[in-house]
Amino acid sequence: MSATMLKIDNVTLGYEGHPAVHHLSGVIGQGALLAVCGPNGSGKSTLLKGIAGLLKPFDGAILRPGCRTRDIAYLPQQAEIDRHFPATVIDVLTLGLIERRGLFGSIGKADTARMLEALQTVGLSGFEMRPVETLSGGQLQRVLFARVLLQDARVILLDEPFNAIDARTVSDLVALIHRWHGEKRTVVAVLHDMTLIREQFPETLLLAREAIAWGDTAKVLAPENIIKARRMTEAWDDHAPWCEDVKVA
Ligand code: ADP
Ligand code: MG
Repeated sequence: MSATMLKIDNVTLGYEGHPAVHHLSGVIGQGALLAVCGPNGSGKSTLLKGIAGLLKPFDGAILRPGCRTRDIAYLPQQAEIDRHFPATVIDVLTLGLIERRGLFGSIGKADTARMLEALQTVGLSGFEMRPVETLSGGQLQRVLFARVLLQDARVILLDEPFNAIDARTVSDLVALIHRWHGEKRTVVAVLHDMTLIREQFPETLLLAREAIAWGDTAKVLAPENIIKARRMTEAWDDHAPWCEDVKVA
């Protein structure tokens, strides 16, 4: 059993007095490769914000015995990212370094070299001066992965990183996730594609505002759990779309 990186202890998270994630408990080990899956509105993004330290629990605690919040890199859902921010690719990467180092830490030649190397790793050499708003969705996601790469974080939180992204980019970025896993970093990713989860993520949390199941992916994604999550979802929203390729009789 690996060392505990994050401990979620009976946590309730939400907004303005309305809970969105109820009484969740679990341990995320160092080096875990964990998928978080569940219907829209089931609290996946809320949980990631809680882990990142951006949202305080109403109740319970998120303990980080293995790291500090600044050791956590958090990539929000694309819907939450302002694509029309007047910045170039290199500005976005510089901001990533500033977030880690503080506003007045200097950015030197070695940093510039690291930024160019990170761009090369994500297949975007030569894109440094491109305005962000001219990038495709897949290219923007590559830039944001390069920023995560530069943050050199022990814990990496990715919220729906592959939504509306081309297949080539998905496979390149999945390879980068595996590299992080090989480096013993802890990766938690919100994902909808069940095939991808089954093939690439050993551990899964199935969430429907509370945990339906958490553990070995094959067991968690068993039909009875999926049916249960679906029933719970119907209780709070009849129209919430479910993970795209799940077929329940
Ligand atoms: P998911 O990521 O699984 O789709 P979210 O965590 O975004 O779900 O949302 C869980 C619940 O919290 C939903 O009912 C959503 O409407 C609500 N919610 C999310 N963000 C906010 C917010 N900023 N203010 C108020 N309610 C929110
Ligand atoms: Mg979400």
